[in-house]
Amino acid sequence: MIEFISAERCIACDKCIRVCPTNVFDRGEDGIPVLARHTDCQTCFQCEANCPADALYVAPQSYPLPDEPAVRDEDGLDRAGLLGSYRRRIGWGRGRTPGARLAVGPPFNPPDANGTALPITS
Ligand code: SF4
Ligand code: SF4
Repeated sequence: MIEFISAERCIACDKCIRVCPTNVFDRGEDGIPVLARHTDCQTCFQCEANCPADALYVAPQSYPLPDEPAVRDEDGLDRAGLLGSYRRRIGWGRGRTPGARLAVGPPFNPPDANGTALPITS
């Protein structure tokens, strides 16, 4: 569930507001999004994935975390590398390797019944 918005990092681009499927955010007067409907979050990570400033932290839990300092401490989240960590892991953002290039999946051209690899066609 979305847990933290860094006002320091946020560039007020509205992307998180636009991509959120459950309308969790409102735009604050200063342009920084606010968690207007926190419990509507579906933990889909789309806001964090799309934030160009790595200003968001979505926790993997699908319920709000207790209001303890560790979750609200920007320096701590930063030191732990958690701000924007989902976006980093999927390789979105300038200079990063797209996650699809690292994905493990079935062979692209599996052999046919005779053991011959099928030609790759476009
Ligand atoms: S994790 Fe998904 S549902 Fe939750 S605030 Fe972000 S975009 Fe909205
Ligand atoms: S996507 Fe990131 S930078 Fe843009 S408004 Fe949301 S928190 Fe701020």
